[in-house]
Amino acid sequence: MDNFKNFENKKIKFVFTDIDDTLTEHGRLPSNSYDSLWKLYDLGIHVIPITGRPAGWCEMIARMWPVSGIIGENGALYFTYKDKQMKRHFVYDNQTIEDNRKKLNIIKEQVLKEVPGCAIASDQFCRLFDLAVDFCEDVPALEKSAVNKIVQIFKTHGATAKVSSIHVNGWFGDYDKLSMCKIFLQKEFQMDLETAQSEMIFVGDSPNDEPMFGYFNNSFAVFNIKEFVNQLEQKPKYITDKTGGSGFTELIDHILK
Ligand SMILES: [Mg+2]
Repeated sequence: MDNFKNFENKKIKFVFTDIDDTLTEHGRLPSNSYDSLWKLYDLGIHVIPITGRPAGWCEMIARMWPVSGIIGENGALYFTYKDKQMKRHFVYDNQTIEDNRKKLNIIKEQVLKEVPGCAIASDQFCRLFDLAVDFCEDVPALEKSAVNKIVQIFKTHGATAKVSSIHVNGWFGDYDKLSMCKIFLQKEFQMDLETAQSEMIFVGDSPNDEPMFGYFNNSFAVFNIKEFVNQLEQKPKYITDKTGGSGFTELIDHILK
């Protein structure tokens, strides 16, 4: 991973960014990273958060933040809000969502029984597609072996599982942050990610960002990626000096310099 200051590109038009521990620090959104989003917005640069956070949060972020859309639940959906219209794009229809929820409920019972100390994430009630298991947001941080156990339980049921900095998210299907990013660009901007990516960057901080790190030529991680770097097969190209929102802010300042 190269230092972010070695990145030189003056024609960035799109900033895709993770939220938790990339824009945030210790669970909150600091003023510097929120201000960076507004600087980008005011310059006409599109910001699209790509997060494991739920549909309910995406509704608010699409509406209130200076963004051109948001991809949520690790790629299960995207929302845009413009001209007083909320547009919601989902990977599955309602029947499939309902069928998958029944299967996820079985996994939920097993995880809670077999992994002491974990909990269902407090934002689960506003999720449509996945099950989020908290291993350090509202509960005392669990050992890595317990996190791996949660992942294993999802996998034995044929589900996909990804680890963020706070949750293990599990779902049915092989979509991820990258697959929905491609759909979003195609549908909303009639752009092909492969050919347009010289105008784009991605910023993240943990293993659920791995598909994006691998695909984007301009992929960045904030400094806290160091915690997970040994688990990554696809590493980001660049790393910031600072963690979380401060890392995001120094990166945006550098790009806009
Ligand atoms: Mg994160």
